Amino acid sequence: MQDLLREIAEAAAAEADKGNVATYIPELAGIDTGQFGIAVATADGKLFSAGDADVPFSIQSVSKVFALALALGRVGEQIWRRVGREPSGLSFDSVLLLEREKGIPRNPFINAGALVATDTYLASSSPRAALGELLTFIRAAADDEAIHINETVALSEIATAHRNFSLAHYLASFDNLHASVDKVIGTYSHQCAVEMTCRQLAMAGRFLVDAPKMPALVSDERRRRINALMMTCGHYDGSGDFAFRVGMPGKSGVGGGILVISPSRASIAVWSPGLNPYGNSKLGTEAMQTFSHRTGWSVFGVP
Ligand code: GLN
Repeated sequence: MQDLLREIAEAAAAEADKGNVATYIPELAGIDTGQFGIAVATADGKLFSAGDADVPFSIQSVSKVFALALALGRVGEQIWRRVGREPSGLSFDSVLLLEREKGIPRNPFINAGALVATDTYLASSSPRAALGELLTFIRAAADDEAIHINETVALSEIATAHRNFSLAHYLASFDNLHASVDKVIGTYSHQCAVEMTCRQLAMAGRFLVDAPKMPALVSDERRRRINALMMTCGHYDGSGDFAFRVGMPGKSGVGGGILVISPSRASIAVWSPGLNPYGNSKLGTEAMQTFSHRTGWSVFGVP
C-alpha cells in the first residue's frame, strides 16, 4: 500500500495539467495547484499516506457527508420529506430544478439539499452550538481533537455567497427552510470551512466503513445509505463519471478534497486543489482511478 501511494503521488506531481482552482471563494483562489496528498485508513487500524498528506485544506462539500449524518441523527427518516435521493445531473450550485420541483432539492449533496441538511441539524439551536456538535462528530470520527474551522475561509465564502443566498431564499419561499436565511448560510459556510489534512479526513471517514474496529457513529442502515448517496450523487454532474472510473462511493469538495469509501476495507482521502470542469479534483479523480484499478477495490469487482 505504501509503495502504491508513493507511486500515485509521484505520478500526480509529474502531471502537467493540474486543473484550475475555484475562484468564487476568494480565499481559495490563490492556492497552489502543485500540491497532492493521499491517505488510506484501513479496516484493520492502519494509516498509510503519501505526498502532501499533512497539509490542511478546506474540506468544503465533503462536509455535506457529516452534515447529512448529523441531520439524520436529528430527525431520522423525516428528512426525506424535505430532500430527495436522486442525482441532479446539474452543477452543485444550480438553482434550475428548485422551481419545478417545488423547493425539494434533488439530493443532500448539491448545495440546495445541503442547505436543507444544515437547516435540519441547526434546528432551533444557535449556529455556534450546531457547529460545535458538527465538530464533536468529526473529531470523534477522526479521533482527533485538533480539527477546526478556518474562520477566514468561512467569512470569505459568506461575502460572495450570492448563489447560496438565492438557493436559501428559494427554499424559504417553499417553506423548506426553518431557520433564517442568514443563520443557515452562516452555519453552512462555516461547515464547509472545516479544515483537515488527508490523514485526518481518511480517519474521519472511517465511520462509513463497515468493520469492527471502525467508529460506530451511525447505524448500519444509515451507513449503507450514505454510501449509496455518495456513489450516485457525491460528484454532482460528474457522479456517473466518477462511478465509471473509480467504482467506489466518493464525496468531493471544491477545495480539491475527495473522501472515498471502500466498503469493509478502508476510508481514503485524496487532495489536490486543481479542479476538473465539474468542480471535482482533477488529479484526485485520476489518482483514485489508478488506485481503484491497482487495488481491485471497485465495488463492481476486480479488474
Ligand atoms: N462551500 C461551497 C459552496 O457552497 C461548497 C461547494 C463545493 O464544495 N462543491 O459553494
